[in-house]
Amino acid sequence: MPARRDLKVRLLEKVVVNEHGCWVWQGHVMATTGYGRIGTGNGKGTDLTHRVSWRLHRDSIPDGIYVCHSCDAFYPVDSIEYRRCINPEHLYLDTNSGNVKRAFALGRNSHDGERNPARKLSLADVEEAKAMVAGGRTVADVARHFNLSHSAIKYHVAGGIEALRARRHQSP
Ligand SMILES: [Zn+2]
Repeated sequence: MPARRDLKVRLLEKVVVNEHGCWVWQGHVMATTGYGRIGTGNGKGTDLTHRVSWRLHRDSIPDGIYVCHSCDAFYPVDSIEYRRCINPEHLYLDTNSGNVKRAFALGRNSHDGERNPARKLSLADVEEAKAMVAGGRTVADVARHFNLSHSAIKYHVAGGIEALRARRHQSP
């Protein structure tokens, strides 16, 4: 039996970089969860591609810890497209799965004390919100426009990704 080619090579040759800088896995994707899968070789079965990418580019993954995507903010809240991304720069470890953060983005766990309907932003909405802030509108203004919490707007427009990156860089 021919030796399996290097896992890193097999992983990276099936990646296309999109406009968000996401390394979008083009191989097998699980229909239900949207995560990519790859055979790890040496009879060890398969594993999720974003977790394999973390191990290959970063470090081991402690038990009970999730590998989450910071780039989910680039996608509509109800989309799971981001899960195909294996860019190690877009991944971070957390004790919670990404679903908790998604709930936050929907305004369900707002720190602002505002209860918001679980309104979803389309990609076009996110672009519009970004443009409004870039054009000088306040976050409060934009939040009112979309009927979302300040937190959700900040998350989508700028704060989310930067905050997550900052937090990741603090961890050992
Ligand atoms: Zn990404």
